[in-house]
Amino acid sequence: MEKKKLLEELKRKVEDCRDCPLGRSRKYPVFGEGDVESRVVFIGEAPGYYEDQIGKPFVGQAGRVLDNLLAEIGLSRNSIYVANILKCRPPGNRDPLPEEIDACKPYLMEQLKIIQPLIICTLGRFALVSIYNKSASITALHGKLIQTENFNIFPLYHPAAALHQPTLLDSIKEDFAKLKVQLAKPIPENSNHRLTQINTEKDIKQEQMKLF
Ligand code: URA
Repeated sequence: MEKKKLLEELKRKVEDCRDCPLGRSRKYPVFGEGDVESRVVFIGEAPGYYEDQIGKPFVGQAGRVLDNLLAEIGLSRNSIYVANILKCRPPGNRDPLPEEIDACKPYLMEQLKIIQPLIICTLGRFALVSIYNKSASITALHGKLIQTENFNIFPLYHPAAALHQPTLLDSIKEDFAKLKVQLAKPIPENSNHRLTQINTEKDIKQEQMKLF
């Protein structure tokens, strides 16, 4: 089945999901959106107030920063795909709880399996530790490509960091410039970086076990 159809099906499952209490407190789930053929998927933490109100990712202030950073490297929201670790907003924008991540992450894994991006850009510490490794340091790893068995991860600071700490903006811009270089590279013939070998729910679970 084509990617769009598979994602539509998955989106409906997310809309019906009540696997954790956030499914009842949120207004709309934020499934993710963008170009399903994109080489790059950006992953944030969780929907905030504005995202919850309309069901779209990064529509608030951090979203505007993200748009500007993308524009600087010739990308736009239409040319990438954006999702979050959690599909539903934690009340008061508190940090996601481990049990919420456990309940929600299989949806993101399924989404990535369908899209098969070349590079996954984690936005902020939270997305990095959730996707890569619990003890990963964003300060040490931002702007560096991490190649794992199934993922190419490119950690970036969260765009909101530039709002709280304007001195980080230059460093964030440099990382985006490095991302541009990575994305311009040709995909190797025998690349296993598109997530082709993750085929079943069981594989996804095993993959997650390796990550934690
Ligand atoms: N911050 C995130 O991490 N995700 C959003 O969708 C919005 C803000």
